[in-house]
Amino acid sequence: MTNSHWPVVGHEWAVQQLQQALYHQRARHAYLITGPASIGKTTLARALAMALNCTNDNPPCGRCRSCQLISRDVHPDISLVEAERVGGTLKIDQIRDLQRTLALRPYEATHKIAILQRFHEANPATQNALLKTLEEPAYNVVLILTAEYPDRLLPTIHSRCQILNLRLLPFEQVESALHTRFPNHNPQQLTLIARLAGGRIGWAIRMAEDPNELEARESALVTLEQVISNPQRVNRFQAAEALAKDKDNLLLNLEYWLTYWRDVLLLTSQAAAPIINIDHQPMLETAARSLSPDSAHTALQATREAITQLQQNVNTRLLVEVLLLSFPALSSSS
Ligand SMILES: [Zn+2]
Repeated sequence: MTNSHWPVVGHEWAVQQLQQALYHQRARHAYLITGPASIGKTTLARALAMALNCTNDNPPCGRCRSCQLISRDVHPDISLVEAERVGGTLKIDQIRDLQRTLALRPYEATHKIAILQRFHEANPATQNALLKTLEEPAYNVVLILTAEYPDRLLPTIHSRCQILNLRLLPFEQVESALHTRFPNHNPQQLTLIARLAGGRIGWAIRMAEDPNELEARESALVTLEQVISNPQRVNRFQAAEALAKDKDNLLLNLEYWLTYWRDVLLLTSQAAAPIINIDHQPMLETAARSLSPDSAHTALQATREAITQLQQNVNTRLLVEVLLLSFPALSSSS
């Protein structure tokens, strides 16, 4: 089977597996799509929902009423369930509401489908509430779960689902998808975005669609560069105060800092892998000359740990203060 017409960039093996199951009418009642944020998990889930309900030959056609409604997230038989925000908590009441919806006959589709996004944001009690639906599915109901951290899901959830473990896409695939999708954009900027995306196609598309996103990234990197260039504690406390005011924005900053520390680590250890933040290369090289691989690695780990903690209920201000004070200072500024 060659590359398909599914509206999905990359993940060819997963698309082929689903296509074949559908072709042989062996669709499962539950899928768990795992992998890092913004690599296309929900896009694949939506494409599967389209394929299951498409009314034309060669599904998903993308043109029939069903495909159109699903692609715009307004099909009455497709439920999208997620926590109120990224990093929030999926509520048990949302599962109960969903179960009432799934118990009704479809309005017009052959399959009622629920896409449960970021299911790692459901606590064990909420996950347990879904188990009954997973164990005794109605014949025309399909559940599609997505999760960035599958280890936070109960083993009983894993065992009831077919698991599709998606990976980051190669740079060339992201780059070529962007050039195809945005033919009127500045090609050099698209290549930069593809590089920055680190394999996350969804992130790359958001960046290309919204110039504010690129500005937010620039601001995050400049904030970090100012912090590590200035060893004074008062400066770091001030930066922490400003960052702690907006938790979502803080999370975004931390994600960019991860890429920055990864680049510093690569440069200090003289690894052959290309750096991500190519437009910040001079400052990255300055940082790499001043720091040991160990201190870059420690900062990378601390940032990663802070992202995990921020998604739980912690004191945001304290968390970001501790993180910033743990960062090394560049010796050139002393
Ligand atoms: Zn269709």
